[in-house]
Amino acid sequence: MARKWVYLFTEGNANMRELLGGKGANLAEMTNIGLPVPQGFTITTEACTQYYEDGREINPEIQGQIEEYIGKMEEITGKKFGDKENPLLVSVRSGARASMPGMMDTILNLGLNEEVVNVIAEKSGNPRWAWDCYRRFIQMYSDVVMEVGKKYFEELIDKMKEEKGVKQDVELSADDLKKLAGQFKEEYKGKIGKDFPDDPREQLMGAVKAVFRSWDNPRANVYRRDNDIPYSWGTAVNVQAMAFGNMGDDCGTGVAFTRDPATGATGLFGEFLTNAQGEDVVAGVRTPMHISQMEEKFPEAFKQFNDVCKTLEKHYRDMQDMEFTVEHGKLYMLQTRNGKRTAQAALKIACDLVDEGMRSEEEAVAMIDPRNLDTLLHPQFDAAALKAATPIGKGLGASPGAACGKIVFSAEESVEWANRGEKVILVRLETSPEDITGMKSAQGILTVRGGMTSHAAVVARGMGECCVSGCGDIIMDEANKKFTLAGKEFHEGDFISLDGSTGNIYDGVIETVDATIAGEFGRIMGWADKYRTMKVRTNADTPTDAAKARELGAEGIGLCRTEHMFFEEDRIAAFREMICSDTVEERKTALDKILPLQQGDFEALFEAMEGDPVTIRFLDPPLHEFVPTAEEDIKKLAEAKGKTVEDIKAIIDSLHEFNPMMGHRGCRLAVAYPEIAEMQTRAVIRAAINVQKAHPDWEVEPEIEIPLVGEVKELKYVKNFVVATAEEEIAASDTKVKYLVGTMIEIPRACLVADEIATEAEFFCFGTNDLTQMTYGFSRDDAGKFLEAYYDAKIMENDPFAKLDQVGVGKLMKMAVELGKQTNPNLPVGICGEHGGDPSSVEFCHKIGLDYVSCSPFRVPIARLAAAQAAIAEK
Ligand code: ADP
Ligand code: MG
Ligand code: MG
Repeated sequence: MARKWVYLFTEGNANMRELLGGKGANLAEMTNIGLPVPQGFTITTEACTQYYEDGREINPEIQGQIEEYIGKMEEITGKKFGDKENPLLVSVRSGARASMPGMMDTILNLGLNEEVVNVIAEKSGNPRWAWDCYRRFIQMYSDVVMEVGKKYFEELIDKMKEEKGVKQDVELSADDLKKLAGQFKEEYKGKIGKDFPDDPREQLMGAVKAVFRSWDNPRANVYRRDNDIPYSWGTAVNVQAMAFGNMGDDCGTGVAFTRDPATGATGLFGEFLTNAQGEDVVAGVRTPMHISQMEEKFPEAFKQFNDVCKTLEKHYRDMQDMEFTVEHGKLYMLQTRNGKRTAQAALKIACDLVDEGMRSEEEAVAMIDPRNLDTLLHPQFDAAALKAATPIGKGLGASPGAACGKIVFSAEESVEWANRGEKVILVRLETSPEDITGMKSAQGILTVRGGMTSHAAVVARGMGECCVSGCGDIIMDEANKKFTLAGKEFHEGDFISLDGSTGNIYDGVIETVDATIAGEFGRIMGWADKYRTMKVRTNADTPTDAAKARELGAEGIGLCRTEHMFFEEDRIAAFREMICSDTVEERKTALDKILPLQQGDFEALFEAMEGDPVTIRFLDPPLHEFVPTAEEDIKKLAEAKGKTVEDIKAIIDSLHEFNPMMGHRGCRLAVAYPEIAEMQTRAVIRAAINVQKAHPDWEVEPEIEIPLVGEVKELKYVKNFVVATAEEEIAASDTKVKYLVGTMIEIPRACLVADEIATEAEFFCFGTNDLTQMTYGFSRDDAGKFLEAYYDAKIMENDPFAKLDQVGVGKLMKMAVELGKQTNPNLPVGICGEHGGDPSSVEFCHKIGLDYVSCSPFRVPIARLAAAQAAIAEK
């Protein structure tokens, strides 16, 4: 039997999201619970995948089923495609499994041609409406299906408005719109070389194809990569009977949330426009009215809508984001989904839903997108500085956060400036989907037009980026790269600051301060800690970072990189003397100078961690990274060593390596120069003894980590003298301290022989940065140059250095855990690569049984939440 590629709304439900996409599944669900939904059908995501498999063609079987369902739809609605009595008009809407707002385009009023327009104009007695529908259809169809620039159509509209001396689209008459439709068709023919299609069936196939194709457009690809949405999912297409919000003043269209998506506050939140259709509200062409005003205009429909909101929230047990239209006073629901929200709102809503008895604590924890928390961990404006500052203007606080940067006026410039390290604020009349990369590179976004549900606002909230929208006081002059606000002219490159919560705009720079975890954030984190089983540590080299990480919930240090300690001004000279020594004795003399300083570093670190575990990785990078390059420094070094400048230069040259990443580094240094590791051991153990003495109630137990081990004999060799040195130090003191000697697992060979390595290692910690590099054979420092090409060619969807490659690198990790635990069932295993703070990688670590993840301080809360979600999902 043929596969079923098409479903009526009455045949689906909310659980069929994978097949029907989010929009389709929810339209079906709303139909099932008896809400007023214009009926139609959904073409499955599988049909989209098939379209790509068939070389970007809709095969005859799928086409046949679409035809069949048009027939069914005609029966249900009692209208017919292209009919002269009662024509069927539809919208064609994309809808992927995960919502991708603004990423793919919608076509409204499909089914129109001159003949049909005349029919509906006459039957409705409303020619203005009929022609408005037609010109909109031509515009959207051309833009989406044929990729004829929107801009030209908008220019034609602006010209027409100018000619007529009107400001708003709604002021254009039926005749004006008819003329516009004619001009649009001309424009279409000029650009495409063919007449605009009149046959509704041809229009529909063209539109369906366009939606499938849009799955692969550049902005969709960028959005997916940022949001971990696989390319393989595909998008569904919804074909739905039109409801008309543009038939007059007793009609309208709106967008609303059941709670405030910016703050999470309870109560309806949204916007409404009378005599309007579709994207008018979001496009920011007219400034919409607040949803509460809808009550005065449409008391009946508003009451009904209010009830629908309550029903939907109860049904989905989450905040809903809805789209609806009122046609001659009658309400139609066009969409519902779990609303996107700021991190702040997500936390408040999750807590409120628990308090309202709608959700359990575990469910509340599972509701928060860990990646979202990032925004809360970023700096906020310093309260005092903010209070002292006077805003120069105010827009809508569309997406919270503090942003401060130099003004740029285009998305391209935003990218360009950001690439050279500048912090920028993107200032636009309004944003559109093309701007997405530029919006991402900016610190914040400021728009002149558009409401809380405008493109800029929605996308910024999704990205967790500060946005102030709809500041109508700005007099914009994009062409000359300037604007005027509060009587002052601002130019490209001038500093401004934005407060995304209040919508305030400030001249110049306002100081920012670090974020803290309190209130609802603290409550959710408390629940997360209750349910997670993996520990979360931090990667920190300094007491300041360590203290910050503890504040954010870190339970230890998973990686302290000691090399940074050698670069400090008071010891780099001694370290260079060590490198440029000819004998062991000479080296030891130089190392003796560093020992007390390094001991001090470790003491401060142990103090900051108050007895929590600290993993200290011994010197890892190749020595040539430390040698001087400036002539003057070389001379100084020569003097200190009593050598000639030439001698020193010769030594430096001899350190050159062709492939330093695989050169003389890691434990290979300790094998060649045991005295370095000996010195580090003394520093660690002496520090531990001192701190233990000062705090008898703590249990100071340093974990000494030998990097880059690939062979058990390497580890054994180094461990032997590390242990001998440590024991010597402990014996010489009157205090007992415990310590562990373990290894970083970052060479593929170490994974393969992990059972042998575990005979010597007292713990494992995955260094997945190097492990990824060595497994793929991709240089960490060069991969950026070719990964872009890999994304374009669909060979890879993500940077494997940011998101763990679970298939390959993950398989090695799994093997290492299993082999290691064969030898020592109690072997502690953690991860300290960049991946330790990436939610999907954290989940993987939980699954393969790691004891802890370690990540940079600001990602600690993200890891705590992700670890909890992994544990909850497993239940
Ligand atoms: P997006 O995913 O970008 O929000 P939608 O498919 O939801 O795109 O369509 C955008 C808007 O078009 C909707 O919010 C709604 O206002 C309008 N629209 C879509 N389908 C219909 C319809 N059948 N009748 C009336 N308006 C529609
Ligand atoms: Mg849209
Ligand atoms: Mg929508």
